[in-house]
Amino acid sequence: MIRTYTSTDKRIADRYNSLPGAEDNIFHTYVWIDGSDETLRAKTRVVEKEIRSLKDVPTWHYDGSSTYQATGENSDMLLKPVNWCRDPFFPGGKSKLIMCETFNGSGSPSASNLRHQLVLVAEKTLDLEPWFAFEQEYILLGSDGRPLGFPENGFPQPQGPYYCAVGGGRITGRDISNSHLLACRYAGLAICGTNAEVLLGQWEYQIGPVGALDICDHLWLSRYILERVAEEYGVGVTFDPKPVIGDWNGSGNHCNFSTKPMRENGGIKEIYKAIEKLSKRHEDHMRDYDPTGGLANRRRLTGKHETASADDFSHGEGARTVSIRIPRPAVDDQKGWLEDRRPAANCDPYAVVNRMLRTVCCDE
Ligand code: ADP
Ligand code: MN
Ligand code: MN
Ligand code: MN
Ligand code: MN
Repeated sequence: MIRTYTSTDKRIADRYNSLPGAEDNIFHTYVWIDGSDETLRAKTRVVEKEIRSLKDVPTWHYDGSSTYQATGENSDMLLKPVNWCRDPFFPGGKSKLIMCETFNGSGSPSASNLRHQLVLVAEKTLDLEPWFAFEQEYILLGSDGRPLGFPENGFPQPQGPYYCAVGGGRITGRDISNSHLLACRYAGLAICGTNAEVLLGQWEYQIGPVGALDICDHLWLSRYILERVAEEYGVGVTFDPKPVIGDWNGSGNHCNFSTKPMRENGGIKEIYKAIEKLSKRHEDHMRDYDPTGGLANRRRLTGKHETASADDFSHGEGARTVSIRIPRPAVDDQKGWLEDRRPAANCDPYAVVNRMLRTVCCDE
């Protein structure tokens, strides 16, 4: 992570955004996951005519040797459009963000393309009508690489006042979180809320509930929008599960999950059946809940700071130091959903959703 973010005067861009005819431009920005399985890349092309259906958005190529995805001799990789939304950054309202799957020169899905496998699992489990919602946490970074609002040396007042905080001295980055919320609403993504988190400069947004593929595409596109909004404010974003050592919360990505039977009267029985299945697959889930096979997430899942230990599976009604929580509304209504608190902030949702469906809906 580079430590200085260039902070130029963004008002100058308005001159170009308001050139005669600027509003008539249509741009497609292709977005994809690079070989880190964590960071996004994107490139933009001019489109002459507004395209009405995703099916008519053509494939495109990029240099995989510059994204940790290929060697120089065989570097051409393919971008296959799989989802899209409105682009909140270019003027005019016709430009789009295009979420893509990546393929090697040989035509096989790239190692970072976990969506490809999810498509099959999502199809198989469609009759159970699975819904997913993620609670994406992240930490904003100032130009010194420390959480936004942390002093250059030492630490701010211990955590306690910052969660859902209101008022100067207790909060940083609200303008960024709100800009992101508005941009995602404009884009048409399923974002549904936001709150300041426990560590100063840490935020969360909720996205969903929607179906298996859509939730993942929307989450990645909302991350793209977050990175871009933060860029414009001259700050960085980290999804690292535990960037500040000590008595400071890490960043997770709680996965809220339900099937149709769980949402029907008496569905609590189905929720407990799912928890029983999940209890037998703890290690498999942990492996898929961050891009390092569980290593990065171990720094976060210590049993402190509203987490359960990485080594043990646990569950509870309304509890926050467990792997799986049954949220209060589901306890009261005896139906609803469960919350998997284990996924790290930097997880690939395609892997998390795939694992959840296979364990709970496919009885793997
Ligand atoms: P908390 O911080 O208490 O864990 P949040 O309000 O941040 O809870 O997130 C709860 C999430 O659960 C929301 O995104 C909400 O849309 C989602 N959710 C609600 N009902 C369901 C359901 N039936 N299936 C899946 N997700 C759901
Ligand atoms: Mn070139
Ligand atoms: Mn939450
Ligand atoms: Mn949270
Ligand atoms: Mn939660």
